[in-house]
Amino acid sequence: MLIIYSLIIILTFSAFGYIVLNNYKIREIKGEETRLFQAANIMADIYKRNKDDIVYTRIMVKTYAHQINGRILIVNQEKEVLVDSFNSYIGKTLNNREIREGLKGKSTSGIYQMDGMEVLQISVPITISNALGSEVVGSVLISTSLNSVNENLSSFSKDILRISLYSLLAALLLTAISATGITKSMRALTNGVEKISTGHLGYRIEERDKGEVGALINTFNEMSQRLRDIERNRKYFINSISHELKTPLTSIKALIDSLNMGNNTIEVYEEYLNDIRGETERMESLVNYLMGSIKLEDLSLAMGMVNLNELIEETVKFMIPYASKHNVDIRLKLLAPILAKCDRNKIREVLLNLIENGIKYRDKNKEANYISIITEKTKTDLFIIIEDNGLGIDKENLDNIFQRGFRVLDNHRIEGYGIGLPLVKNILDKHGWDISLESSLGEGSKFIISIKDI
Ligand code: ADP
Repeated sequence: MLIIYSLIIILTFSAFGYIVLNNYKIREIKGEETRLFQAANIMADIYKRNKDDIVYTRIMVKTYAHQINGRILIVNQEKEVLVDSFNSYIGKTLNNREIREGLKGKSTSGIYQMDGMEVLQISVPITISNALGSEVVGSVLISTSLNSVNENLSSFSKDILRISLYSLLAALLLTAISATGITKSMRALTNGVEKISTGHLGYRIEERDKGEVGALINTFNEMSQRLRDIERNRKYFINSISHELKTPLTSIKALIDSLNMGNNTIEVYEEYLNDIRGETERMESLVNYLMGSIKLEDLSLAMGMVNLNELIEETVKFMIPYASKHNVDIRLKLLAPILAKCDRNKIREVLLNLIENGIKYRDKNKEANYISIITEKTKTDLFIIIEDNGLGIDKENLDNIFQRGFRVLDNHRIEGYGIGLPLVKNILDKHGWDISLESSLGEGSKFIISIKDI
């Protein structure tokens, strides 16, 4: 990873350095060119005005050449050198691109390598106006070394290189620090996932990081905790089911064994067979319950318009004998009839489950137990609130309560399989309805069904 980061940083700085230096060089050369063109035009002017005084022109050329730190030549139409600030080309014929273009009336420039150094060469035409128009009588050629530009460039590139190196070092250092932090956390996470996959449910990773990785570790810890709870409940679920099945099986076996012993009257047979039937029915209902649980996912709905108040009243009526038997008072506070589109039987099942739980998980230590069922309505939404003053559920278990097979383990003396609430949730989900729960231990629970956009 560090190598990739280094490569990215190096490539970025190289591209940046190349672009900056290139732009700098182009700008400097342009500046130099402008300066030389200005000098050449002045030279052309001086030459034109003092054509007959070549000595004066030579003095001027030498002075200018000294000022611009370059070599100035003036050639006539035959490419013969008339003036040379270095004197050595006087009388010689020169035939380079700049001179040819200059004599054609064009100002040009070019960069050449001469004696191992870069030279900028420019030329401008010397034109004289006459009766026929204008005529090119010669050309001014100036050449100057680009050494000073290149020297500046090289010191500038050294600066850039130095800055790049420092930045690279700083970036690598920071990357290394953060990468080792991330790698450590990732290693811890991999280790955690391995632990979970080998069955160490509930394994926690110590949280050192903040930010994204810290959030990931947090989620991992929550997932691990949840898996442990689910697993604990699954074991408990299987255990209680096996126990529930074993009890009637043992009784049936004992009853058959008793019948096998000695001569029994027909009345005894009848009585024992009735008992056996009772036990078989218990087992049947348990198996039906289990099958219901397995079918939770394949729930299909038969929708129709239902008067919910009527349905609630009818369900409560059905539950009153069971509630009275356990001294639980059911209080109703319903609004005017409300129609909703739903599967009547399934919503009845939801209400039955919630009311039955309210009775089952009553608090026997309280003087009076009650369940209140209230319907409330806003402009768009309807709420069915089923509240009890029973045992309540502690905060820790609230999140898991709608999961299949989940039972609050302290309640294991009360019969149940942890299927009721998942079934309730599943049915409501299929309707697009919501259920939420507010509960506190020792005080009671409040299930709120919300039906949106009624
Ligand atoms: P079961 O009642 O068969 O165990 P449920 O899914 O209906 O399964 O309920 C899951 C758990 O939620 C129960 O074990 C119980 O601890 C808790 N619970 C449900 N309803 C209530 C309630 N009204 N008051 C207190 N605890 C409840």
